[in-house]
Amino acid sequence: MGTVILGSGIAGISAGYHLEKSGENVVIYEKDSDWGGLCGNFTIDGFRFDRFVHFTFAPDEYIKNIFEESSPTFPHPPVSYNYWNGYWLKHPAQNNLWSLPVKEKVKIIEDFVNRPQKEVLEIKNYEEWLRVQYGNYFAENFPFKYTRKYWGVEPEDLETKWVGNRLHVSPLGEVLRGSYEEQAENFYYTKFMKYPKKGGFRSILNKCREGLDIRFNKKVIKINPQEKIVIFKDGTSTKYTRLISSLPLPEIVKMIDGIPEEVKEAGLNLMHTSGYMVSLGFNRPDVAKHLWFYIYDEDILPARVYSPNLKSADNVPEGCSSLQAEIFFANKGGEEITATGKSASGWEIPSKEAVLKNTIEKLAGMGLFKEEEIVVKDIRFEKYANVIFDKDIYKNRATVLDYLNKVGIESIGRFGKWEYFWTHQAFQDGRKVCVQ
Ligand SMILES: Cc1cc2nc3c(=O)[nH]c(=O)nc-3n(C[C@H](O)[C@H](O)[C@H](O)COP(=O)(O)OP(=O)(O)OC[C@H]3O[C@@H](n4cnc5c(N)ncnc54)[C@H](O)[C@@H]3O)c2cc1C
Repeated sequence: MGTVILGSGIAGISAGYHLEKSGENVVIYEKDSDWGGLCGNFTIDGFRFDRFVHFTFAPDEYIKNIFEESSPTFPHPPVSYNYWNGYWLKHPAQNNLWSLPVKEKVKIIEDFVNRPQKEVLEIKNYEEWLRVQYGNYFAENFPFKYTRKYWGVEPEDLETKWVGNRLHVSPLGEVLRGSYEEQAENFYYTKFMKYPKKGGFRSILNKCREGLDIRFNKKVIKINPQEKIVIFKDGTSTKYTRLISSLPLPEIVKMIDGIPEEVKEAGLNLMHTSGYMVSLGFNRPDVAKHLWFYIYDEDILPARVYSPNLKSADNVPEGCSSLQAEIFFANKGGEEITATGKSASGWEIPSKEAVLKNTIEKLAGMGLFKEEEIVVKDIRFEKYANVIFDKDIYKNRATVLDYLNKVGIESIGRFGKWEYFWTHQAFQDGRKVCVQ
């Protein structure tokens, strides 16, 4: 009996670390055979791949210091690129139009100047937001396409509170300057991104993980808040006095004994993306040219590709390089869709084999590598990637969180709070269990 934490992602690790530091003993239960959750990684023949791109850009000194004490990091300027219809544009695309043909530049700038004017308060959805910020031609050809690939839904299906400073909005002067010459200025929402020199992304947590009691291969399947008991898939169980969970809300609603039907339904209606990671290792050192890049063409399935060996050479054997491509689709309530079927937005989901084939053929077709240079190829699936901000998210999320609060389950982290948290925010959320 004592404090039980469910999940050993960054939120669970942070909660455990801060509670232990304050004198409370905790046990963490994790369904996987290793810790880190989305911050974790896997290694194949000496090639290490994180579970999706991952850099840290924690602004807070306390968190920054913990990460840095855990592992020295390389600072990377966040310079990334865009691939569109055969052209490479520095990111953000609207500020770096110089490599496009004149007719494309003219259409983009003309529509930017004549973009629809609307009060921020009147904007009904992300589609309108994009049209108002960027103008119709750019909106329809860049972010609309990217929205379908990254969020798996149409822009009009998203609301806009999540956007914050994530997308750069340019004044006309910037757009014009970038259409004449390459821009040195970085318009990304953070000026630095850091990555551990050794051990992959999760090394930022080494200090916090040290000494924590984490029990692996413990998949929670049932929680009884009246009896204060958690039951695992392997048939074992544990009693608790305090329960902190970083499990995704659509999962936890399926586990709780006696949960009201409307709460369960609210949890199952929460939308999120699931994603494939296609990880490729190459027998030459120079395949990776960009830290990461975005792909807008809809016939190329990956939305984004990044280069693990440019994050740190420690991620590949000597003389090699690597890429990981991210392919997303919309899901709802944690449905088990891992092969062909319909996504939550009604689109067909290609099979694993088809995703792998498309990714390799299309990336090779972009001139990035030759297929015979591939020495490692892997595809795996991540059920929970991003929370989708559809129109019902706030209502559904509040219904579930109010209920969890009522039955004494403290829900933390990206999928426990159902928020668009970066790692430092999930870490901070885990830390908050100490100061409630
Ligand atoms: C594509 C992508 C790119 C990203 N890039 C960045 C980036 O560059 N920088 C950044 O700061 N953030 C990035 N993030 C966000 C970051 O990954 C998350 O904010 C953070 O890792 C969430 O941590 P968490 O502990 O809340 O959740 P998780 O990491 O999901 O941890 C939850 C844990 O619970 C476990 N679990 C689930 N169900 C059960 C069960 N039934 N029983 C027991 N255990 C269970 C899981 O295995 C997991 O270990 C990215 C996210 C994605 C999807």
